[in-house]
Amino acid sequence: MKKFNGFFGEFGGAFIPENLKNEMNKLEKAYNELKINPVFQEQLKYIRKTYQGRPTPITFAKNLSKKTGGAQIYLKREDLNHTGAHKLNHAIGEALLAKYMGKKKLIAETGAGQHGVAMATAAAYLGLECEIHMGQTDIEKQQPNVLRIKLLGAKIIPVTHGQQSLKEAVDSAFEAYLNDLDNSLYCIGSVLGPHPFPLMVRDYQSIIGLEAKEQIIEMTGHLPDKIIACVGGGSNAMGIFSAFINDKSVELIGVEPLGKGKKLGEHAASINFGTTGIMQGFKSFVIQDENKNPAPVYSIASGLDYPSVGPEHAYLHQTGRAKYELINDKEALDAFYTFSKTEGIIPALESAHAVAHAMKIAPTLPKEKIILINLSGRGDKDLDFIAKEFGV
Ligand SMILES: *Cc1c(COP(=O)(O)O)cnc(C)c1O
Repeated sequence: MKKFNGFFGEFGGAFIPENLKNEMNKLEKAYNELKINPVFQEQLKYIRKTYQGRPTPITFAKNLSKKTGGAQIYLKREDLNHTGAHKLNHAIGEALLAKYMGKKKLIAETGAGQHGVAMATAAAYLGLECEIHMGQTDIEKQQPNVLRIKLLGAKIIPVTHGQQSLKEAVDSAFEAYLNDLDNSLYCIGSVLGPHPFPLMVRDYQSIIGLEAKEQIIEMTGHLPDKIIACVGGGSNAMGIFSAFINDKSVELIGVEPLGKGKKLGEHAASINFGTTGIMQGFKSFVIQDENKNPAPVYSIASGLDYPSVGPEHAYLHQTGRAKYELINDKEALDAFYTFSKTEGIIPALESAHAVAHAMKIAPTLPKEKIILINLSGRGDKDLDFIAKEFGV
């Protein structure tokens, strides 16, 4: 078989300095070896089962299906993972990989804090040091997650230059990694960054799709007709899509955040409004200003506001295998309230984007059609914000 070169069509690759290239080659080699190492794979399986709470179930959203009055809606319950979202799937994978490589320390950045919490959790469980780089603005905005990260024994490194936000935190984490290559591993938070990260993170997330395929067939006797997942960087979507890519009857739908509108700065819909570009070591669609710099982005769901998207999504869009639809803040909020009341599940604001799109299309489909939503996380983290801004 031809060796995978890190490109999904024209997207992906590794646009990075030479010293980092050596390290990425080492990482790719270790990852490929561990992929077929039965001891590593058994340990990963054991942790997922006894610590993380896998397999996560599929729930039939019977009330929502009745209310929307069309297709039958099912939910893959990634909100039931330990720490409340799919992020632990790759956090545990990356942390275990670091351990097998003999590394002592995990370095990561975080924006809203969810990736930071997942990495700090994985580090605590596996007995590794952990350093989370976070913009000063985000530290002030995301106090509950900052406290969690500290309680879990990780160190927060405040980033106080530029916008003091996610982009600067990524640069700061990368710099720390470059200064400590032998001892540490940089752990990215989605299917982003230079090769091999998009491939690795997708593989660690692919457990979602593998489980879901078996479960939905067992429950309904069929493959789903449509799979819907929200897309920030794209890891939860790739996790569920990957198992169904060769099943041509299954329509794959990513949902991007339209935020407040279509103008630059009002949304974070990188596939719908971006143009090809290179940032943070890989080629994909990037939301850019007139000087070709990544532009400010916005969504009510802080886990979705990133100015680019995983390269494999760019490829799935270009080949037409997946479609990328838009849901705005208001639609996501409506879905957040309706879904909580109707199903007794408070969804993350990110996941509410996927729910909103399902609610939009279900009434247009016949009753025998099956929609499967990837419910990426639970909404407890959003309650303070929701209560303050909109009321409950
Ligand atoms: C981080 C996050 C996302 C967005 O990340 P992807 O890489 O696009 O999956 C979506 N949902 C939840 C609950 C998150 O925490």
